[in-house]
Amino acid sequence: MSKFLSKRSALMKPSPILMLAAKANELKASGLDVISLTVGEPDWETFDHVKEAAIAAIRAPGKGKYTPSNGIPELRSAIAAQVSEDLGLKYDAADVTCSAGAKFVLFAALQALCDDGDEVVIQAPFWASYTTMIELAGAKPRIAICGASTDFKLTPQILAKAIGPKTKVLLFNSPSNPTGKVYSRQDLEGVAAVLKDHPGVVVISDDIYNRLIFDGSRVAPHILHVAPELRDRVLALNGASKSYAMTGWRLGWAVGPREIIQAMTNYESQSVSCATSISQYAVVDAVKNGDAELKKVVVMLQQRRDFIMAELAKVEGIQAHRPDGAFYVWMDVSKFLGRKTKAGKTLTNTGEMAAALLEEQLVAVVPGVEFGLEGFFRLSYALGNEKAKQAVDRMGAFFASLVH
Ligand code: PLP
Repeated sequence: MSKFLSKRSALMKPSPILMLAAKANELKASGLDVISLTVGEPDWETFDHVKEAAIAAIRAPGKGKYTPSNGIPELRSAIAAQVSEDLGLKYDAADVTCSAGAKFVLFAALQALCDDGDEVVIQAPFWASYTTMIELAGAKPRIAICGASTDFKLTPQILAKAIGPKTKVLLFNSPSNPTGKVYSRQDLEGVAAVLKDHPGVVVISDDIYNRLIFDGSRVAPHILHVAPELRDRVLALNGASKSYAMTGWRLGWAVGPREIIQAMTNYESQSVSCATSISQYAVVDAVKNGDAELKKVVVMLQQRRDFIMAELAKVEGIQAHRPDGAFYVWMDVSKFLGRKTKAGKTLTNTGEMAAALLEEQLVAVVPGVEFGLEGFFRLSYALGNEKAKQAVDRMGAFFASLVH
């Protein structure tokens, strides 16, 4: 323990997913034919008209300056209009705050809502960054395990058990990273019914994948569709990264009760000041005019999902859980825990299994333990079918090579 570093810095573990992705890239750069299924990032381009909007903003006088901390009014109006349509509730520009990626907006939300010792309920498997962000806000993650028997989703029983007297927030994600599972309206009605018994609990609904769903709907079911009366304590979180393939542009937002939005904006103003102005102008265009391309993206993703599921079905011993949205497959590999590699190493956890898979077959995946549930791999299928097939073939060879 360094004498210089704060106790808080000890909580700041680097993102394991980004570390794995970096390791895969390093091996690739050294000339090895690595296939990486690690990063939650679209492999398709930001739409051309969005790029043009950014170029126009760069060329226009005065658009490279600081903006209001909650975002330019045009962007907040465009988001308010989109979210109003998505949720069937009326929101105004003043109900929106934008900042440097949904990740930072979530960080600001937890800082605005949590005091030391408060609890934030999340389900496992969860997006790996949630736990550290909660701890950095002084709160404690209260983890509700959701296994295959509930399709990796919270049920009213699981949620009711997880909420305690110190619970301040339920942080909720559908479609889910890492499972790609989508809560149905009925699932959400169950969640909402429990929340009605706990009026002090705020819901952060992480909707970042809500447009990437495969049942033909425009957006995924939302807790506010089934329980609009909760709107004074529901924060809807979203961003441009996934729907509009703009991960590097760093633009996310939240829509919700003004008191919370204002506190988050204060936090944003004292930390990053504002999101990059050029990204904001570009995202106005993405939100207003991105639907046609987005539709094509969803069709492509659904084809990829069907393709990789068909390939995975040929691999013996694993169980791939079919995703309804996002671009991840959650795959049960627990049968192979305890087996040995060709080199004689016993695989006692999925971290070791993922390392051996990378070493032996040059395929990078994220072990389930990073999402709080052991026995699984998360595969990202945001890559072409040819690569996906190669990756699955190699995984098949790897699993077949493991001995008791
Ligand atoms: N929420 C979830 C569940 C995610 O998977 C991600 C990104 O991986 C984010 C939020 C943050 O997205 P961004 O900060 O790029 O807007």
